[in-house]
Amino acid sequence: MVSRLAASIAPSETFAIDQKAKQLAAQGRSIINFSIGEPDFQTPERVKEATITAVKGNRTKYAPVAGIQELKQAVCDKLVQENKLEYQPENIVVSNGAKQSLYNALLAIANSGDEIIVIAPYWSTYAEQVKLCRAKPVIVQSNDFSLPLGEIKISKRTKAIIINSPNNPTGAVYSKKQLEELGELAVKHQIHIISDEIYEKIIYDEQHYSIGSFSEDIKKLTITINGLSKSYAMTGYRVGYAAAAKELAQAMQKIQSQTTSGINTMAQYAALEAMKTPPSKDMVAEFRKRRDIIYAHLKQIDGIAVDLPKGAFYIFPDVSKLLSGRTIQEFSEYLLEKANIAVVPGPAFGRTANIRFSYALAAEKIEEGISRMQEALK
Ligand code: PLP
Repeated sequence: MVSRLAASIAPSETFAIDQKAKQLAAQGRSIINFSIGEPDFQTPERVKEATITAVKGNRTKYAPVAGIQELKQAVCDKLVQENKLEYQPENIVVSNGAKQSLYNALLAIANSGDEIIVIAPYWSTYAEQVKLCRAKPVIVQSNDFSLPLGEIKISKRTKAIIINSPNNPTGAVYSKKQLEELGELAVKHQIHIISDEIYEKIIYDEQHYSIGSFSEDIKKLTITINGLSKSYAMTGYRVGYAAAAKELAQAMQKIQSQTTSGINTMAQYAALEAMKTPPSKDMVAEFRKRRDIIYAHLKQIDGIAVDLPKGAFYIFPDVSKLLSGRTIQEFSEYLLEKANIAVVPGPAFGRTANIRFSYALAAEKIEEGISRMQEALK
């Protein structure tokens, strides 16, 4: 019999829909898959080579729990140069993707019953991981997708707030002013900030700010999470990292030592190679082109309300006017059946009126997919 905790967790809907879309495609259906958040670019050749070199050089044994020293140093160099965050290798914990970094962070700070504020629309994993820590996600809705500072209520049980800018699923980018105000709020109430910055490089006209860089007081409370999945097209390598005050980093390291040990050694050498140069600007230029295409096409559909994403590779239109009595899940299933397009229904992100498209696919596919949707809605 499974535990109450296991029973209370929702599985990743994105992965489930992606699998279904792939199964249908394998059966011969021409599915356009807007579900999964995975760059369709290939891992850079030099990174693949570094992986092979690591294997051939017998770097195939256990690595230190928090990561090899060179990689932790590379992360520190990146954080100081690009994010104005000064850390030492002892502040860094390398994990199996940003997803595990986030889980380590929550396990390191949350006691049973603590409240963790999650801004909706949110990346589904946040709420489920909070529950896995036997803490309570407190969902704060943002109507315009910006940081809803006025809505955030800190209680005696509030332990932390999770933020994600550029945002999955909305593509919103939080302004410097809003982040500064949030930082002040966190310092005033002494709550932690978990800042998921995995999409920092996939940003169009705005600038990315790391909230921990604003002051020493904010930095002490902040756990900055990032990884190589999106920026270097390395989703399968599973390399993410957290940067935090020494006490928190040590707690995360201890947790990891009893869960997975250090991450895959070859993947760490590959990550080290990847971080020698910044992510490809071509990839961002291509995402911008696709963002413009999907936005323009969706806007043309009567009944859809959509905001222009400022970063990441998702768009999250409001389709409530098109539901005609259907739930958003039924609407999404209809799109899969009738238009052969796979999208993720909003409830996975804390919203019942929206659907999420990942536009990490070729421009022609995006155009074809949206015109199929338009047809199916006639
Ligand atoms: N954070 C956000 C907001 C994401 O969208 C994702 C992946 O979809 C991750 C973290 C996880 O990335 P990783 O592959 O490094 O675990």
